[in-house]
Amino acid sequence: MEQIYLKRLSKFVDWMKEKNINVALITSPTNIYYFTGFYSNPHERFMGLFIQMNNEPILIVPELDINAAKSKKVIREIFGYSDSVGPDSLIKEKIIINAEDSIGVEENLISLKRANWLKNIFNLQQFKDIDPGLFSMRLVKDEIEVRYLQEAAIFADKAIEYGIKALKVGKSELEIIAEIEFHLKKQGIEKMSFDTMVLTGEKTGLPHGKSSIDTIKYGDFVMFDLGVVVNGYCSDITRTIIIGEATEKQQEIYDTVLNAQLKAIEKAKPNVKAKEIDLAARNFITDKGYGSYFNHRVGHGLGLDVHETPSIHENNEEIIQVGMVFTIEPGIYLPNFGGVRIEDDILITENSSQVLTSFTKELIVI
Ligand code: MN
Ligand code: MN
Repeated sequence: MEQIYLKRLSKFVDWMKEKNINVALITSPTNIYYFTGFYSNPHERFMGLFIQMNNEPILIVPELDINAAKSKKVIREIFGYSDSVGPDSLIKEKIIINAEDSIGVEENLISLKRANWLKNIFNLQQFKDIDPGLFSMRLVKDEIEVRYLQEAAIFADKAIEYGIKALKVGKSELEIIAEIEFHLKKQGIEKMSFDTMVLTGEKTGLPHGKSSIDTIKYGDFVMFDLGVVVNGYCSDITRTIIIGEATEKQQEIYDTVLNAQLKAIEKAKPNVKAKEIDLAARNFITDKGYGSYFNHRVGHGLGLDVHETPSIHENNEEIIQVGMVFTIEPGIYLPNFGGVRIEDDILITENSSQVLTSFTKELIVI
């Protein structure tokens, strides 16, 4: 297991050499986990992995995390600082920066306050951005990441099953969420990829609606959008079902979204452009007259973060590669009526793709 992390570290050092970055500071807990197997949320405290072109990587953590960090046995140089003293003197002592060295940081993430603090510690004028290197590594999943994403998808399927079993006219959205998560926690799931969404009735017409004590009614669409985290890796699934009997209009919207989704999945294979996948779904929905009611991209990358690269949108010329994992989730949202979204997680394989989430997409009517 340690080998995987060491391989990732050395691959990243190669990228740093290419870009002439002497020291890269990683502070995102997910990126630290990606390189070390150690995960902790330090909240406002400083936690940083210094990856150095010519020296061993150094991990600096709050004192309370030092034993947990050391137990991973990937990074040899781990140092803790106490809350009363803070990390400044430790960083100055352990990280040697020469005047001509360049330091890379996660530009997307680092706060202005922390950037100023670091400039002060190292007496620097500016930083380089290491996000492109990190994004391009995390974009293509290795074997172990694929395994975790597959497991996360299996639990997402189970979660939908629990949700559908829990449905009953008169029950609230939040009650159903509690039942889904109760069953998952009993099976050892620590957390969800994001706040679980169960939406009923007209609220299904809002792509990012908020679950509440609103209750399930006869004739409603019910939309489940949820994800499960396994070993840090996120799944993301959406299913929409009907309580009672589907009206003609409900059935028509459902069939349109489902066929659009299948068309996009069919497109998803190595060497196509990301935009072709989006357009496969979008053109189909537009031809059916619902184009203006599909108001978001068709999908997003999945991994340690529930939204990461690639972004599958209609202008993205990026080439799809083996080992990418992303969602395909077209939707139609009609104001004051309701909506349908169907979302699966897709792994790009050698010649085609594999759908990781497998819960049925036939319209379920209960
Ligand atoms: Mn999604
Ligand atoms: Mn989702």
